[in-house]
Amino acid sequence: MKVKITDIQHFSLHDGEGIRTTVFLKGCNLKCPWCANPECISPKIEKSFGRYISLDELKTEILKDKPYYKTGGGVTFSGGEPLLQIKELEPLLKSLDINVCFETALFVNENRVKLANEYADELIIDIKMLNPENAKNVLGGNVNQFLSNLNIIDLSKTTFRIPATKYSLADSQEICELIKSYPPKKIDIFKLHNLAKRKYEILEKEFYTEDITDSQINDFKDQLKDVFDNLEIIEF
Ligand code: SF4
Repeated sequence: MKVKITDIQHFSLHDGEGIRTTVFLKGCNLKCPWCANPECISPKIEKSFGRYISLDELKTEILKDKPYYKTGGGVTFSGGEPLLQIKELEPLLKSLDINVCFETALFVNENRVKLANEYADELIIDIKMLNPENAKNVLGGNVNQFLSNLNIIDLSKTTFRIPATKYSLADSQEICELIKSYPPKKIDIFKLHNLAKRKYEILEKEFYTEDITDSQINDFKDQLKDVFDNLEIIEF
């Protein structure tokens, strides 16, 4: 069995607890304009991005870093939308005895979410926006599917990661309400950055920017702090 990836990143510090190995799976069903991994969106191998890897080879790569997992770390499956390949990954997931995390947008069929919840020690779930029209037009996703999937996951192992954009800021009230109903383990507010600019150039795609100020992000943080304590702003 093989899966399609773009990269395996060793010693990741922002993709879950401890030091982690992050596997970037290729293919996503959303089209977030600010995507930091635009080379992971298309399921096709394009330009210099993407390759097939066997589960055996992937396991060997992951377990090379096993000594570092004593920090509480492990493997994080990111992307792209990693749950689109979770069925192909399942034999590997069954055989791993290390901490497993999925970083997902959760806009996928509930069967895939159930599988992820079963195998994950940790989940990082984006809350991108909640306005249904914006979710449809900007992301290409159905927000009701996302909301329904929240009922499947174990919140005690979930970090919500919120990209600070004009869309999440516009929905801040709704996001606070959602967090009251679905309190996670932790919340990260994630600032947009320009580290992926070169990849956009290679892919001949337009690079997206927004003028969100630190003060707007701090206001958002304060709003969230009123309903939830364990909150951090992360910058890459
Ligand atoms: S869900 Fe993630 S990988 Fe997919 S387009 Fe959005 S940011 Fe990119």
